[in-house]
Amino acid sequence: MLRRTPFGETSLVVHVLTPNHGRVELMAKGAHRPRSRFFGVLDWFDTLELSWVRRGDSELGTLREGELHIRRRQLTRSLRSYRAAQTVVELADLVTRAGFSDREQFALAEGALDALDRAQGPPSALLAGFELKLLEQLGLAPALVTCATCGAPAAAVDPGSVEPRAPFSTAVGGRLCPIHANEAHASGLRVGTLPVSILESAQLALSAPLEELDRAGWPTDRSIRVLDFAGRFLDHHLEARPKSHARFLAAPDRNRRPASRPDAP
Ligand SMILES: [Zn+2]
Repeated sequence: MLRRTPFGETSLVVHVLTPNHGRVELMAKGAHRPRSRFFGVLDWFDTLELSWVRRGDSELGTLREGELHIRRRQLTRSLRSYRAAQTVVELADLVTRAGFSDREQFALAEGALDALDRAQGPPSALLAGFELKLLEQLGLAPALVTCATCGAPAAAVDPGSVEPRAPFSTAVGGRLCPIHANEAHASGLRVGTLPVSILESAQLALSAPLEELDRAGWPTDRSIRVLDFAGRFLDHHLEARPKSHARFLAAPDRNRRPASRPDAP
């Protein structure tokens, strides 16, 4: 379920993501009546079996049958899991409203809710993995290892430092080699740098199955910084920010180069 809006005293209008029909808008008549067959069925984060009818070219269908298929109870037992699951749903809502909707997206969102429901550790790395995989599905995955423009190796600018950084431009699509970093900069695009270790972790988060990211047990700081990176990249390309992510992303960029201290050697 992507959205749920009360309608009248007892009914609901819901937007659901389906594997075969993309995004569907349905009226659930009397859903709030205790004796309704939909009572307690249309809850967040569950997988449902629904059947509906739609007349003529009306966008709004009428829900006929609704059954709970998979309930993910764990997600409502901790605030951080609940928030992460909310972000998954909000992002699925944002991309399907923009007209992207297919079987793969359904599978990714459902898989993310499953993985969050079974997670033993904090959800940040898992959520970052979901966001990067979503970007990939939209054809917007950042270049994390090689140059976004030419595919050549994109070396760190300060290889000897404690935390080496590589040129990166969100507008160009990711990490850049020195030539294309200069070219992008000369054409007025914003080019910064990001820690190579965070880009490498993001690459892992993009390629590893979501369950593995939970088992990997990354230090909190690393998970948070990869999530910060993925969230900002997504924010830039979707031009919309999920409400559940707004506070996290309102903080200063956690991957910004630390201000040089005057007493540093
Ligand atoms: Zn290049």
